[in-house]
Amino acid sequence: MHGADFILAINLVVAGLIAVSFMAVAVHDRPRAAARWIALAYFVGMANPLLEFAIASFGNHAWMIVLSFAVILAAMAILNVGIARKYEVAVPWLSMGLVFAGSVAACYLILDMPRQSFTRMMIYQAPYFAMQAIGVGIIGQTKSRRLVDNVLMAILSGSALQFLSKPFFSQITGGTGASPKDYLNTGYAMVSQSLGTVFAIAVALGLLVVLVRDALSDATERSHTDMLSGLLNRGGFEARAAHAIQEAERVGLPVSLVISDLDHFKSVNDTYGHACGDRVIVEFATFLRSAVAEHHLAGRIGGEEFAVLLPATNLVAARLFAEGARSTFATTAIEGLPAKKRVTASFGVAESTPGETITDLLRRADKALYLAKESGRDCVKIAPRPDHRSKVDGPGAAVSV
Ligand code: GH3
Ligand code: MG
Ligand code: MG
Repeated sequence: MHGADFILAINLVVAGLIAVSFMAVAVHDRPRAAARWIALAYFVGMANPLLEFAIASFGNHAWMIVLSFAVILAAMAILNVGIARKYEVAVPWLSMGLVFAGSVAACYLILDMPRQSFTRMMIYQAPYFAMQAIGVGIIGQTKSRRLVDNVLMAILSGSALQFLSKPFFSQITGGTGASPKDYLNTGYAMVSQSLGTVFAIAVALGLLVVLVRDALSDATERSHTDMLSGLLNRGGFEARAAHAIQEAERVGLPVSLVISDLDHFKSVNDTYGHACGDRVIVEFATFLRSAVAEHHLAGRIGGEEFAVLLPATNLVAARLFAEGARSTFATTAIEGLPAKKRVTASFGVAESTPGETITDLLRRADKALYLAKESGRDCVKIAPRPDHRSKVDGPGAAVSV
């Protein structure tokens, strides 16, 4: 077995392993469609080393050479479909179809040209470049690219350029062999096949990282979401709020926290049933979601207890927000409850001070909420700044509005 034979055998095994890996990734929801297309691309790509062996063993059949060329191009087109599915971009069927059809015809027409001809090699390799460049373009259309997406784009660009470099490599390394049978004995075949393997693996690894990142971020999203209300759960709220507080502190903006607890909720459950109670929780969550802006965070941090973090908002503005929410919800009819029945909520508001954590802030807002309950419910109380130490011990630590 020659060196290039070995590389072909390795290519076959590597493509198979990559295809199987993507089938494994396809069990996750979000990357499913993309992973299936990518797995298919590598399965189709496996036909190339098999055909190269066949060509080396059985000789110069035109259809075999064209087919060997076409399967790699088809694999790249299928890979592009996977990339388009992943980045939710329209699949460029037309441009891929044109590149495919035009270059398969061109590949057939150049077969009579001398194998060592630079023009022939360029006509053979340029479609690979074009097909991978289409893949680069697909990712390029995505606005919200992160580091790994850019790395993947760079790998695909390198892979595309590698194909354009091959005719030059062939000139330097002494050509592609006098006949297809000789091809596998040439230094060029070694370089060409190894480069192809390196890039096929690099592209696959880049795609795997991107798809696994998506699957993991979905899992984090799910673990941070409250199933009943669709708001953040306590863990998710605290994690995001901690980040938002740090960010606001970095740029010197205030952050305020509003927490609320439904009033006499036990009696809602007792009177109308637990399912009705659940509906009230969902109604309140929906109401909160509609009341906050995109950069605000809303979470359900307990059974019928909710929190809203308002970045770039001081205590006065946060109190107004809470007051507006309180009065609006208190007059809102709730489906499933008697037409005249209203549910109210009590609110506690606190503005963060430098160095304060989300736990400290929650504790202060909670004290204000406790005072709101003590004061007869359906009202808003604000927490004094923590440096007023004498006032923060006990329920009296909050100030009436
Ligand atoms: P207060 O005005 O003092 O807040 O009175 P409350 O009745 O709301 O008091 P408390 O906070 O002690 O009671 C909360 C009740 O909320 C107790 C619990 O059964 C109910 N609860 C907690 N989680 C859920 C839930 O997911 N669904 C329903 N339906 N009820 C819940
Ligand atoms: Mg309550
Ligand atoms: Mg409660």
